[in-house]
Amino acid sequence: MNDGDGTRCVHAGLEPARTGEPLPPQPVLAAQFHLGEPGGDFYGRADNPTWRALESAIGDLDGGDCLVYASGMAAVSALLRVVLRPGDTVVLPSDGYYLARSYVRDHMGGLDVREVPTAGEWSASVVEGARLVLLETPSNPGLDVCDIAAVSALAHAAGALVAVDNTTATPLGQRPLELGADVVVASDTKALSGHSDLVLGHISTRDAELAARLRAERTASGAVAGPFEAWLAHRGLGTLDLRLARQAENAAAVYAVLRAHPAVRGVRWPGSVDDPAHPVAARQMRRFGGVVTFELADEDAVAAFLGASRLVSAATSFGGLHTTADRRARWGDAVPAGLLRLSCGCEDPSDLTADLRAALDRL
Ligand SMILES: *Cc1c(COP(=O)(O)O)cnc(C)c1O
Repeated sequence: MNDGDGTRCVHAGLEPARTGEPLPPQPVLAAQFHLGEPGGDFYGRADNPTWRALESAIGDLDGGDCLVYASGMAAVSALLRVVLRPGDTVVLPSDGYYLARSYVRDHMGGLDVREVPTAGEWSASVVEGARLVLLETPSNPGLDVCDIAAVSALAHAAGALVAVDNTTATPLGQRPLELGADVVVASDTKALSGHSDLVLGHISTRDAELAARLRAERTASGAVAGPFEAWLAHRGLGTLDLRLARQAENAAAVYAVLRAHPAVRGVRWPGSVDDPAHPVAARQMRRFGGVVTFELADEDAVAAFLGASRLVSAATSFGGLHTTADRRARWGDAVPAGLLRLSCGCEDPSDLTADLRAALDRL
């Protein structure tokens, strides 16, 4: 079927219609299930109908078999634990989400860790001997981009597995499995669920053997999602197409304001033809989302800007309904003190740009 993104989001993971049954999926919160014939649900750590509905929905959009986890980091760390053995080489983005690097360094022993900037250079020597190459594109917070198909070809030639952290793009923005990656990992805390009211993550893959190992490890390690969060995420997913469209519209308008303002430098948004990442992004991304990164002079300028804005809240995380900004140096990212990651929400573009312009003019 060639349904559009909106139709696919609204209908993803729904059961076939049955008279008298609820139209939307309903949460099943049970820990225990009546035992009987083998094969049914038996205990909430192993499986649950509410997970299955969300996994069917996200898996349909990603184009693979999906497993949900208690958080994005639960998904990332499960992948690392299942795929890597002591002595293996893992390639990680030096400019990607910081906890992926610190988890490997502080909580997994015996690995050879190779950190590579998302923008590259990507060559055979960078992936040589690697067991796993984890990409994050667009990267967080710098919004650099790498060519998933090209890096996958290089990594596969070296015998490595390729995983892409697809959090920023979401399955509507980019389909790494179709571009040649083996695994998608993501934090669904962000735009996928979109309402800033839950923490959740997932892994998708077309490799049935890997999916089975991940499923067994998830049940054994117990890093499972709460069914209520899974249900809320499924509810949020229904409007992903609408939210991303408004967020990208806002990002484009905000990008123009930021680029024109003398108090701002280093504006990044892969959706703009003026962005250095745009040529690769336009080849592999289906849409560009609402996250924009830019720099003000210093920490004080950021505080003054946030104090003067009516619509931008200081908050970490991104992808929600409300426009938020996060000064990433606060969390130890290796970025300038005045760098802000701005997550455009679903406000009206004219209100948001007027508010931003007024706040910047006060600097
Ligand atoms: C937020 C984030 C994570 C971690 O997800 P949690 O749901 O917070 O555990 C991983 N990768 C990226 C790119 C993120 O933005």
